[in-house]
This record gives sequence, C-alpha cells and structure tokens, in this order.
Amino acid sequence: MSIFCQIDDKFVPLYRVMWIAATPHFCGDEECQREGFYEIRLEQDESVWAKSEERDKMLAQIEAWQGDPGIEEEGDEEPW
Ligand SMILES: [Zn+2]
Repeated sequence: MSIFCQIDDKFVPLYRVMWIAATPHFCGDEECQREGFYEIRLEQDESVWAKSEERDKMLAQIEAWQGDPGIEEEGDEEPW
C-alpha cells in the first residue's frame, strides 16, 4: 500500500496528516476558491484541499495504514 495519497496535484504522505475536515469548507466569501472542498490539515501549518472523493480516499488509506499493519494489499497500486 502506498504511504501517499494524491490530493489535487500533490502526493501527501499519510503520516503528515493532522486532521481531516468532516464538513466542506464554507466561509461565505464569493471569491473563495475552497468552497465545497474539505480541508486536510498537515504538519507545519500547511493544508491541502480535497474534493469529497479525495477526502474519502484519504480517510480509507489512513484507516488501512493505521489499522492493518501486517496486511499487504495486492493489485491496489496507484499508477504514478
Ligand atoms: Zn473560504
């Protein structure tokens, strides 16, 4: 299993994730580029912004990574 999850144009290492937003971003600013995206907070005050599918994929990968240390998944490699 990859230790990276692709969010937008970045491969984010799972171990750098601090938290993941449960609800999509909303601030009411008409100019806002993040409306409807989910914030994924990283170390060092960085954030990436995920679509709902990307957030779900990230959550699933973190759960698999944390939860099943011994289990190798086969045929599940993402093309780089
Ligand atoms: Zn905003």
